[in-house]
Amino acid sequence: MSPAPSDGKVAVITGASAGIGAAAARSLARVGFSVVLGARRAERLATLAEAIEVQVGAGGPRTRARALDVTSAESVTAFLAEEPRVDLLVNNAGLASGMEPVAEASVDDWRYMYEVNVLGVLRLTRACLPALLASGDGHVVNIGSIASFETYPGGAGYTASKHALRAVTRTLRKELLGKPVRVTEICPGMVETEFSEVRFRGDKERAAAVYQGMEPLTAADIADCITWAATRPARVNIDEIVVRPRDQAAATMVHRRSPEETP
Ligand code: NAP
Repeated sequence: MSPAPSDGKVAVITGASAGIGAAAARSLARVGFSVVLGARRAERLATLAEAIEVQVGAGGPRTRARALDVTSAESVTAFLAEEPRVDLLVNNAGLASGMEPVAEASVDDWRYMYEVNVLGVLRLTRACLPALLASGDGHVVNIGSIASFETYPGGAGYTASKHALRAVTRTLRKELLGKPVRVTEICPGMVETEFSEVRFRGDKERAAAVYQGMEPLTAADIADCITWAATRPARVNIDEIVVRPRDQAAATMVHRRSPEETP
């Protein structure tokens, strides 16, 4: 078998214990990346790492799984301590917490979303940049959202954090001009993952209602976008990909079918 174009390259993926991060890890391993998985739930990472090892087979690229809390500088340092090489950083760890209007919003929720969605990306990017530059063909892929450029009632804390992430992403691209590191933002619409369950603090019924009567994207759909952007030739910088379900035209414009119409 001829080697895959990404053979030998190392991809660090945050938030790999669920949803988009887990799907991205599988997809990147499939095209030859050696994947380094990070998230707080280390047992889940270990299970995923085993599955990826089976998927790539003996002699395939090595997979590592280590606990990571992107809100802690010490955790980020420990997570990367044994990774001298990084070719691709996927800043995926993120969350929405609550959906209260601004008038009732919790400062703690907003602070935590900023900590994970913005400062977490700063911590990982700063820590990985020397290795990304040294690789000669580095790449930072930030998982934004349509919330990076749209707003909706009850979403201000989350959309503000993703708008901020977009500003960071665009600034980074300018700061790295002339250096061998590409910068991409992937902006998904509705993807069915644990995202809504986390947002509604474990309320499964409320989370399921978000996707009722419409067909959301899957985590694998977003993993496809990440892997496609990461496997373009080094001269090609995919600035951003906006990807929504066919059933969604804007954050709050969703086509829903009645139970009789649902296939
Ligand atoms: P998910 O299934 O809830 O996964 C979120 C991941 O982030 C989990 O692996 C979680 O792992 C990790 N995470 C959360 N806090 C963390 C922390 N402090 N340190 C390290 N990891 C942390 O949600 P998802 O939909 O896959 O979300 C992935 C990204 O896509 C997020 O940035 C989200 O904003 C973005 N996004 C999602 C949607 C959507 O509709 N689902 C749409 C647009 C954008 P642990 O809990 O184990 O730490």
